[in-house]
Amino acid sequence: MRTGRYPTKPWAMPAGRSRGRRHPEPEHTYRDAFERDRDRIVHSRAFRRLEYKTQVFPNYEGDHFRTRLTHTIEVAQLARTVSRVLGLNETLAEAIALAHDIGHPPFGHVGERALDELMAEDGGFEHNRHALRTVDEIEDKYAAFRGLNLTFEVREGIAKHDARYDRFQEDEIREFSPDERAPLEAQIIDLVDHVAYNVHDIDDGVEAHVLSVSRLADEVPLFGVLHHRLRTELGDVRSRALFNETIRQLVNRLVTDLITTTGEAIGAAGVESVEDVRAQPMDLASHSERIEAELETLQAYLGENLYRGARVGGAMERAGTILRELFEAYRSDPELLPRRHRDRAERVGVLTAIADYVAGMTDRFVIREHRRLVIDGHGAAQSTRYSD
Ligand code: MG
Repeated sequence: MRTGRYPTKPWAMPAGRSRGRRHPEPEHTYRDAFERDRDRIVHSRAFRRLEYKTQVFPNYEGDHFRTRLTHTIEVAQLARTVSRVLGLNETLAEAIALAHDIGHPPFGHVGERALDELMAEDGGFEHNRHALRTVDEIEDKYAAFRGLNLTFEVREGIAKHDARYDRFQEDEIREFSPDERAPLEAQIIDLVDHVAYNVHDIDDGVEAHVLSVSRLADEVPLFGVLHHRLRTELGDVRSRALFNETIRQLVNRLVTDLITTTGEAIGAAGVESVEDVRAQPMDLASHSERIEAELETLQAYLGENLYRGARVGGAMERAGTILRELFEAYRSDPELLPRRHRDRAERVGVLTAIADYVAGMTDRFVIREHRRLVIDGHGAAQSTRYSD
């Protein structure tokens, strides 16, 4: 039990009370179950590929933009802070955060939307489902089982991660009791994910000269109030430093609001155990209504001026076409799939096998395979394919 400034609280999810793994394993001598899960995620191939998957700007556009990997690291860092202050199990929150986007396809939301359309006749594509298949069966490292054999609580955190496409079939989600709340360590991940991307998308958008700081200050009160106050406080300061200080205070404001509001909700609900958390009618982790509304304004602004703007929207439209053409190439000739994915096609169906293979690819690998198979029209003859 932690006894520092923020002692662990009774509503934390202890590793010793995990519902266990699908394939029972002996305990490790000095790492608990959630520490092992965190380490397995970091050592997985799917995790390493996040480096070359787009968050908003493709990583060949510049060296300072977030990638899916650095976004994930920011989410994990925020999750650790929030869970520590709330007395939660910091390791469990970190493990779920590190895995939260492990099923994200290449090319950001454009890739996700393209795959969803391509999979329409088979129930659609959703990155949480793909993430679960990645950690349950696609990762191939261990002699005794397929996948990473993570604990129930980390898998539940992945399955219940909020997503724009909620495509679990009933029998896939049943083991996670969808009517039950996830432990708080999982609940906070959606919220710190939003904090991370809302703030870093402003940062990246300004870095790319797509967003203007003065327009942001005028049109997004959440940003504007801090920016105006800091300008008065700091006086004659470089505009870059003023912007960076605003970003810094913005993260702090959002995280503090999340900690305070969630802490109050825990108190008001009178929960005394993780079972009490699970039995609540609603998630206890949340922002205040005021911040919630301000975040919506910011999201709408980013949607119009960044995500759907000419620079990001245009590059991403081309990316969607490349991904669709590659998918169609595999569909018209499944022999082009690597052996392991051909074998999977027999078990899970050809569309799901293709979607899982393509969703696992990095941006640059999609581009390379598209050039080889679609533009140059080489079949399976020469292979630069992933060896799995
Ligand atoms: Mg995310």
